[in-house]
Amino acid sequence: MNQRSIDMIEEAEHNLGFTLKVMQGSFNNGAVKASADVHDGGGAADFRARTLDAVRRRRVLEELRRVGFAAWLRTPAQGFVIHFHAVAIGDEELSPGARRQVKHYKNGLNGLASGGRDDGPPGFRGMTWEKYQEIRDEARAVQGVPSAFPVRDVTISITSVRMAAEGEPISHSRAHDAEQFMAFAFKGIKVIPVTTFMAWRKTRETRFFVFAVKCVQAHFKLRQDGDPGPITLANLTQFGYRITD
Ligand SMILES: [Zn+2]
Repeated sequence: MNQRSIDMIEEAEHNLGFTLKVMQGSFNNGAVKASADVHDGGGAADFRARTLDAVRRRRVLEELRRVGFAAWLRTPAQGFVIHFHAVAIGDEELSPGARRQVKHYKNGLNGLASGGRDDGPPGFRGMTWEKYQEIRDEARAVQGVPSAFPVRDVTISITSVRMAAEGEPISHSRAHDAEQFMAFAFKGIKVIPVTTFMAWRKTRETRFFVFAVKCVQAHFKLRQDGDPGPITLANLTQFGYRITD
């Protein structure tokens, strides 16, 4: 299995709260006759379903689909030993057979030669691993951001945000001030996109912070020099922030 698939499985397991037993992975080079060429490429995997009850089987399918797998429960009625069959949508190493199954999945079919209808949980057909991560990261980024503006009792130190703008290593408490400033730019006056907000949170790279400063300065019709000094920060007091040295 390739790293992308492994990451996807681990994320699904994380969301499930239990691990999945892999019965068959990828790159089989035709060793498993029953699954045609589907498992010859990358991005395909089978997981054990025998020991799980109906509720858990449903949950597994949901979580596999949520992270971007085309996933089905394969049953004895269909001629299989019961198992989950999953194909990573958008994987570059998919075999032609796996690619066909993804197409079937997107069209609401079960991916078998019989061309039956998809019998799994709906709502995930447009998902990919990349899209899932974007949605997840956006949700995380918004956590901890003040939900209401004006804020109450939020202090921002000029020294702290200047350090963030200059790329100096900042301690946890100083990072909090910088985060408040970014939250203000992102959710308060909405002058930076979520992608900038997330990128800064992830990397703490100065350029994202300076970009936000300039956007805030543009909003208040100030000189856009990227310096979060007293003149720029004074504008935040009307939104309830207290500015200190
Ligand atoms: Zn399979």
